[in-house]
Amino acid sequence: MTATRCFLLLVDGLRPDVAERALAAGELPNLARMTADGGTTRAITVFPSTTSVAYLPFLTGCTPGRCNIPSIRWLDRRTYGGRWWAEREQVRSYCGYQAGRLDGDIAPDVQSIFQLVPESMAIFTMISRGLTPDRDPSQRERWILGALAHYVQWHQPYDDTASRYLLRAVDEPWRFVFAQFPAVDGYTHQSHPEAPKVLRALRRVDETVGRLRARLAERGELDDTLILLVSDHGAAPITAHLDLPEWFRSHGVTTMSHPVIWERKPMAAVMVAGNCSAMVYAQPGVRRRERWPLERLRRPETFGVAHDVLDALVREPSVAFVAGEDGAGGVAVVSADGEARLTGDGEVIRYAPVRGDPLELGGAFAGTPVEWLAATWDRPFPDVAVQLLDQFRAHRTGDLVVVAREGYDFRERFEVPEHRSGHGSLVRSHMQTPLWSSAPLPGGPLRTVEVFAAMLAWLRVERPEGIDAEGLWQPVAKPVRPGDFSSPDTRVRSSVG
Ligand SMILES: [Zn+2]
Repeated sequence: MTATRCFLLLVDGLRPDVAERALAAGELPNLARMTADGGTTRAITVFPSTTSVAYLPFLTGCTPGRCNIPSIRWLDRRTYGGRWWAEREQVRSYCGYQAGRLDGDIAPDVQSIFQLVPESMAIFTMISRGLTPDRDPSQRERWILGALAHYVQWHQPYDDTASRYLLRAVDEPWRFVFAQFPAVDGYTHQSHPEAPKVLRALRRVDETVGRLRARLAERGELDDTLILLVSDHGAAPITAHLDLPEWFRSHGVTTMSHPVIWERKPMAAVMVAGNCSAMVYAQPGVRRRERWPLERLRRPETFGVAHDVLDALVREPSVAFVAGEDGAGGVAVVSADGEARLTGDGEVIRYAPVRGDPLELGGAFAGTPVEWLAATWDRPFPDVAVQLLDQFRAHRTGDLVVVAREGYDFRERFEVPEHRSGHGSLVRSHMQTPLWSSAPLPGGPLRTVEVFAAMLAWLRVERPEGIDAEGLWQPVAKPVRPGDFSSPDTRVRSSVG
């Protein structure tokens, strides 16, 4: 008898509406067959909606706040004392030589699926806690192809390599296989979330799914295998860049930022992610345990200038809102024409506008995390209250979180080649992701963190305590009717009923 297996295919940066349109147009015949027995829905990712941070829910069942990985760049306020070279380990960017530090930075008590399922392997994973080199065979190619993709904008070879490893893994004794397909994200940044190159890369993933299912069928394992197609974030076209570190400098604030973090006596550190959100640390060279509340950040002397920097920041067209601690255990949110408080007591999260409606929720709202998801998954800022409170769980999070409005990002100077589309914000186009499954899905949207719990349930592995998944989805195989499956469909434009 076959072992119960699970294949998690992560198409980085794939928007659900783009995927759904391609499916409806008959361009993804193999995924159409797969989801005919299973289903398609949308899952809400985590904030910041960016690669590596947004892999955490799938692979650990925990949110970035719980993992203490609040972003792809951060600074440890408790230990960084301003000696930028000697203390460079207290400042992080996973976009460069520190990428390998991610595993060790995740909160020590968080377990990855690779630890929980010893018969597991990964292809192009950025999170590899628990993996031995033989279970992470593409590690070397990841660096080589990553550079190729970055500098020559050639992303398809990366996906083709992932496919090769994935299909090889079928005949190996792995129970869980994770494969990342980065081409969609790469081509999206270059152009548009629905560009021809994006759709071509997606059709190639569909062909891979066809071959995967064919091989599993030959082995008599198709019914016992859960295949999931997911994404870590969406994307949207960028029409204007606001270089946020430069903006602080133009307001007279001495600012440290990546990639050159050296700055004499900085009054702010600005860490951009994805590139549509950022964290700001006031007076980064001064060690302190606590974050400063929003009220203190408004004082001109906090940033060493003569005006309220926050007031100027929220009036920028690129800024949807900023968030910081309110000094009373909650989170304060400020936009150009509104201010509100978010508080959570562990069960119920409350949104109380003080002025206007900065989170565009239509007024005050209170509910459990499950109720928040149901009420807001299709709002301008899906799941916003849960996500913002989660950010401030991590002690590495900055004093201030800055969230971009759709169409804008926060990085220009050092982004070569220019990003024409981006992600990282809390807007719907970045937060909604496709969740497609070979097994039936529950009605209604889920958070990506539920995928972790669902996979463990399928693999009959006990869920660890203290994770952020609620166990809303327990996938069960639907009996496959004879004759349902013949051979992989690699025709690109076959029609689906
Ligand atoms: Zn990206």
